[in-house]
Amino acid sequence: MLLAAEMGTGFVAALAGILGLLIGSFLNVVIYRVPRMMERQWAAECAELNGAPAQPAEKFNLLAPRSRCSSCGHVIHWYENIPVLSYVFLRGKCSACGAPYGVRYPLVEAVTGALFFFCAWRWGWTMTALAWCGFSAALLALAMIDWDTTLLPDDITLPLLWAGLIAAALQWNPAVDLPSALWGGVAGYLSLWAVYWAFKLATGKEGMGYGDFKLFAALGAWFGWTALVPMILMASVIGAAVGIAMKFSSGLREGGYVPFGPFLAGAGLTAMIFGPQSILRFIGL
Ligand SMILES: [Zn+2]
Repeated sequence: MLLAAEMGTGFVAALAGILGLLIGSFLNVVIYRVPRMMERQWAAECAELNGAPAQPAEKFNLLAPRSRCSSCGHVIHWYENIPVLSYVFLRGKCSACGAPYGVRYPLVEAVTGALFFFCAWRWGWTMTALAWCGFSAALLALAMIDWDTTLLPDDITLPLLWAGLIAAALQWNPAVDLPSALWGGVAGYLSLWAVYWAFKLATGKEGMGYGDFKLFAALGAWFGWTALVPMILMASVIGAAVGIAMKFSSGLREGGYVPFGPFLAGAGLTAMIFGPQSILRFIGL
């Protein structure tokens, strides 16, 4: 810590940015594998309920097996897995079969790096910066997983909620005190739960999922209850605009469902960078 105190803010921020690139590389694995791990678990539970004998499943978690090209199975070496740089050197293609890799892999890495850089630059070498780095990484993973699969895994939303309460209690997040964080979590969950049931009773349809309640509760814990209205307004306005744009460009997936989680996550990241109350100005209120 003494050493860190002598380091300039720019140096600390650059280090955090590099750490963010590496964490971003890991987030790509999380985004791809966590939904598949959940599906495997559900399938195993269903089989068990049906009395099927347990299948000896091959290892599949965040660490094993090694990452492979989805086209040819080529195992990706460490030097082919350097955030952003490898993508540029390989020109976005598998070195074995030439199949293109999605541009979102380096994008997720770059965005994570930028968010970590921001946190360290803004809060310096502190637990506050570390807490917001964790917050950013969790929101980015949730946004991408929800966009891909319409799932918001409990394994990420619930720790994010607890972390928000703990950060407030330890004053790592000096912007909110513990009562404000606690009531933010409660009000975040209950408000969307109430909207869900009102919508379901009125139309017979489900407008969102329980994961959205948990994510909004987590945002309440990180920003306090006073930030809930600005964040839900921003997520709804942008979510509706994107939904309408996708409808006209016929980019809607089957069932016409636009997941709400990415917009909640976007509102959370905007609140982190600009402050929750400035959101109201952005959307013209
Ligand atoms: Zn390949």
